Amino acid sequence: MTRIAFIGLGNMGGPMAANLVKAGHRVAGFDLSEPSLAAAADAGVGRAASLAAAVKDAEAVVTMLPKGEHVVAVWRELVGLVKPGTLLIDCSTIDVESARKAHAMAVDAGCAALDAPVSGGTGGAAAGTLTFMAGGSEAAFARARPLLEAMGRKIVHCGAAGAGQAAKLCNNMILGISMVAVCEAFALGEKLGLSHQALFDVASTSSGQCWSISSYCPVPGPVPTSPANNGYKPGFAAALMLKDLLLSQEAASASGIATPLGAAATALYKNFEAEGNGNRDFSAIIEMLREADRA
Ligand code: NAD
Repeated sequence: MTRIAFIGLGNMGGPMAANLVKAGHRVAGFDLSEPSLAAAADAGVGRAASLAAAVKDAEAVVTMLPKGEHVVAVWRELVGLVKPGTLLIDCSTIDVESARKAHAMAVDAGCAALDAPVSGGTGGAAAGTLTFMAGGSEAAFARARPLLEAMGRKIVHCGAAGAGQAAKLCNNMILGISMVAVCEAFALGEKLGLSHQALFDVASTSSGQCWSISSYCPVPGPVPTSPANNGYKPGFAAALMLKDLLLSQEAASASGIATPLGAAATALYKNFEAEGNGNRDFSAIIEMLREADRA
């Protein structure tokens, strides 16, 4: 049993904290939102009235917050509150620079730190089947592993501070690009008189195969569990896809590398969100691509 503080009990953090409780850990939770705190408390997470109250006596602290600015602000406060030696794990999806800044603050305070963003969405968070991609020292990773195993199925140590975030944004840039590619192929196939099932049967077992077609097909029918069968209810919201693509473009620009397809996918998702689709599943972009006129 580890005494854990969990900060940020939203759509992802709430069920993740609940899985730590199920695994026998003592979890004190804090969130700025009362409904999030109440939902987590129903799942056995202790309610803390403040960040300071949550981390009192904590051996490990997990943060699951919206953006880099939130993580840096919370970790700045955290390092003044916890004892040296405390393990700090951030599971949010944030920019690499903020992740490295948070690591540096933790190490300066004598704490162990890990960036450990996740893949698998709210379904994976609830089922405890997330994939974790971690950045930090071997020692911090070894200490964090049993806690991450209580929330996920696949845990990968990607390298030093920030490497987890780097892996996450590279993976999600592939996802954004591949979803657009699959949607374009289905929209073209429709114009060519090809049935959805025929294109799926061929492409899902041929060289066009990828997760966006085999597991998350953007048209109803071939993959019954994909959001296309459910009115494009997320799933993975287009706004989150755009957030991750923007992080990839920020990192590409800071690294001086051109990612033309990443840039194109980002521009498409920006338009899709601007048309009011941020809360729909990201595979619904096929509707916008179908309507696009060939100039
Ligand atoms: P969310 O908005 O549901 O939850 C974030 C929570 O953080 C909110 O409850 C908010 O009140 C709380 N919060 C914000 N600032 C705080 C502070 N200073 N102190 C305490 N609590 C604070 O978001 P989410 O969907 O749970 O996502 C969290 C992170 O996980 C994001 O970085 C997101 O990109 C990433 N992520 C989300 C998904 C997904 O499918 N939702 C999948 C993978 C990764």
